[in-house]
Amino acid sequence: MSSQRPENNLETLRKGFGSPPVDILSSTRIDNKEIRIDASIREIARPLRYAVSIGIRLSSAVLETVQRSPTWTYYYHYRTVNFALDQAALAIAGICQRMGYTALPIPASQVLDWDRLLGHLSHREVGAMAGLGWKGRNNLLVNGKYGSQVRYATILTDMPLPDCGESAPEGGCGECKRCIKVCPVGAIKEDPDDFDLDKCAAQLRRFSKSEKINSLICGLCLRVCGGEKTEKTVTY
Ligand code: SF4
Ligand code: SF4
Repeated sequence: MSSQRPENNLETLRKGFGSPPVDILSSTRIDNKEIRIDASIREIARPLRYAVSIGIRLSSAVLETVQRSPTWTYYYHYRTVNFALDQAALAIAGICQRMGYTALPIPASQVLDWDRLLGHLSHREVGAMAGLGWKGRNNLLVNGKYGSQVRYATILTDMPLPDCGESAPEGGCGECKRCIKVCPVGAIKEDPDDFDLDKCAAQLRRFSKSEKINSLICGLCLRVCGGEKTEKTVTY
């Protein structure tokens, strides 16, 4: 097992793979933070004290097709990006394993609890811990460079990695309220903690039926939350 410093390990992961590419990669300790991990992987995850958060930016052009409702173009893109994230997570887990560590890639988009729309863990929560952004009014992770237009995946590992969130600059939506105006059901409020998940989930189910898309997606509040349009521009 390698005895490299945490910072060197992170650099190895950043340099260690090129295909498929990710736009952002960071790490965090999770054993010193409160994080929800699904019971199905809780035991295997217990000794894995670190998490790698990876993100792939969505295509702005594809998101422009989402004007009133999710489109098939967006649906296909969403699935493609999730697949690319899973491939990248697999590649990173492989690097960790070859260096003698244990690594558990968490699926980018696998719903385990359909009532509360929960997966194995919250990728956006891990991304925030790794300093990749803040919880936006739209209940998504807002990255200072790319806004909410990023999808994330996570790799849990026992490879020592730096806690990048500790040195991340403070972010926040500031005066921006773009997403509030475009949500068709008023799920987005001024205070991110007041986000109405039930209203949002109900609308995703309606879109799934009305647009005949076999997935719970929307994209309206994503489209207006590109990094260059957000009030605060914080680059990680
Ligand atoms: S659109 Fe503006 S208010 Fe909404 S999440 Fe993005 S930055 Fe925050
Ligand atoms: S995903 Fe759609 S329904 Fe949900 S908060 Fe965003 S705009 Fe509203």
